[in-house]
Amino acid sequence: MSSYMPLTDDIGFLLKNVFGFDAQIAALPGHEELTADFAVAVLEEAGRFCREVLEPLNRPGDEEGARIVDGAVVTPKGVKEAYRAFVEAGWPGLSGDVAFGGQGLPRVVQILLDEMLSATNMSFGLFPGLTRGAVEAIAHHASDELKAIWLPKMVAGEWTGAMALTEASAGTDLGLLSTRAEPVGDGSYRITGTKIFISSGDHDFGGNIVHLVLARLPDAPKGVKGISLFLAPKFLLNGDGSLGERNAMSVGSLEHKMGIHAQPTCVMNYDGAIGWLVGEPGRGLNAMFTMMNAERLFVGIQGLGIAEAATQKAVAYARERLQGRSLDGARGPVPIIEHADVRRMLMTGRALADGCRALAIWTALQMDIAAGHPDAATRAEADGMVALLTPVIKAAFTDFGFDVAVLSQQVFGGHGYIREWGMEQYVRDARITQIYEGTNGVQAMDLAGRKLSLEGGALPKRFFALVRRDVESAAATAPSVKDVSAEVLAALARLETTTTALQAASQSDAAAVGSAATDYLKLFALTAIGWMWVRMAVAARAGETPLEQRKVTVAKFYSERLLPQTQGLAAAIAAGSNSTMVLPADLF
Ligand SMILES: Cc1cc2nc3c(=O)[nH]c(=O)nc-3n(C[C@H](O)[C@H](O)[C@H](O)COP(=O)(O)OP(=O)(O)OC[C@H]3O[C@@H](n4cnc5c(N)ncnc54)[C@H](O)[C@@H]3O)c2cc1C
Repeated sequence: MSSYMPLTDDIGFLLKNVFGFDAQIAALPGHEELTADFAVAVLEEAGRFCREVLEPLNRPGDEEGARIVDGAVVTPKGVKEAYRAFVEAGWPGLSGDVAFGGQGLPRVVQILLDEMLSATNMSFGLFPGLTRGAVEAIAHHASDELKAIWLPKMVAGEWTGAMALTEASAGTDLGLLSTRAEPVGDGSYRITGTKIFISSGDHDFGGNIVHLVLARLPDAPKGVKGISLFLAPKFLLNGDGSLGERNAMSVGSLEHKMGIHAQPTCVMNYDGAIGWLVGEPGRGLNAMFTMMNAERLFVGIQGLGIAEAATQKAVAYARERLQGRSLDGARGPVPIIEHADVRRMLMTGRALADGCRALAIWTALQMDIAAGHPDAATRAEADGMVALLTPVIKAAFTDFGFDVAVLSQQVFGGHGYIREWGMEQYVRDARITQIYEGTNGVQAMDLAGRKLSLEGGALPKRFFALVRRDVESAAATAPSVKDVSAEVLAALARLETTTTALQAASQSDAAAVGSAATDYLKLFALTAIGWMWVRMAVAARAGETPLEQRKVTVAKFYSERLLPQTQGLAAAIAAGSNSTMVLPADLF
């Protein structure tokens, strides 16, 4: 079985030739000296770690799975040591705040590391992924005292984070949650309740585990307004900051699940566990959204990582596997990569993985600008773009990630279905990314409902105008990409017409947005990725290197073979909600 190859050449091309990384990043105070070459060098090292340390643990970890021994989680053989090596090499703090001991590298570099982690070992990647989200929520909403106590060790990765929202009766609808928090009188609270599905809720790495728990204060109103956020660690701290006695929380059991077997998904019991309020009482969901938005982007990148890894494996297999005769019948058996239907699957994987990576980098750059640009209006604009694209990245990348995992498995025929080649694990692991962190249906409603109406609808209009400007100027400066640009402009026109019609329909039809949302999100994503393919095709138009030749060819495939899906999506949305809604529930 071939190993995953980190795509550092592609990354260099994207950072330098497509996004002008050096100039964009240099405009951000603190990053004046940072270059794409340095970022690529860091990512080469990260890629080596992922390939040499994490990927070899992926299949054994899946087969052994996390277990409970004497009430505590035991991770599969080698995971604990790999985590230690990850921390010792400094990877957890890559983009962490310098004030808390992080290295302060931009988000762009972070998401590319996240892709490599997810491509080589999705279960492992969740430990640092959740820790970073928890760090962000604490950094934005907790008191200075809590920040000083908890953040340095979390940024270093010595202590990890967990996100405790879900309960048996409260999933999407967190307003239903019933975990309680009683004030002790000394500024702390005692938390009581049971949470389910808590990723990284416990492990055997040593160090602390910082749970961010949603719970209700005694006098809290019903619904989401009555929810507060608490920081509750596995170990309480001694006066000198060292680990003290166990807090009153325990793992009830581990969920038995379809994939990510090496990742402990815990039922957590909080039995009067000590915790501290993060942010204001009753504003817990708001504080938690900082973590959830970070995780949504991270989960989208998981989808990208799986798409990339599965595509690489499928290409390697298709070059070697001999079946059937050449198209002219003269040769055979030939490598299956010669068959048009196999090429369709491989081209789709390559087009989606490369397109998603480009859109992820563009969005991460907006995050860096939103966090650090000296001009307030520029920061606000970038922040708006990130808000708009967050559900797109979460849902579209994970849907594409799963689709590409299945297509890549298909390239292996029956050998993709049996365990030996690892393809069925990609399919099982990818599946959860469409479900957790807010299901993809809920993401689609966030986009088609809430996000489209941001700034009275002006924000999406500015995004569409940006895409149009970029694509039109590409067509003007690079006639060779004219065909690709024309397809993207046609998709954009469909997206704009659909947006206006959907907003109008939602005024009179309560089901308009819900029935169209998933199709709408895909229409949006395919168009945005088309925009990225135009940018890549322009940057590669010289066609001199193998990489440039590949980019130009895949851009053409994307525009001719994937982008036309936008026609069907626009037509389905235009049909309205009636046929979806009319059948009575008992007649299904
Ligand atoms: C492996 C795993 C790891 C997880 N990790 C964590 C974690 O670390 N922390 C944590 O807190 N949670 C975690 N979760 C929970 C996860 O985020 C939830 O399962 C998910 O958000 C959906 O909630 P639910 O399962 O209760 O489904 P439900 O909310 O019951 O949804 C069922 C279906 O109804 C749809 N639906 C629900 N409400 C609406 C609506 N208003 N409009 C339209 N459609 C709707 C959903 O899209 C879905 O298709 C994890 C889950 C799993 C399986």
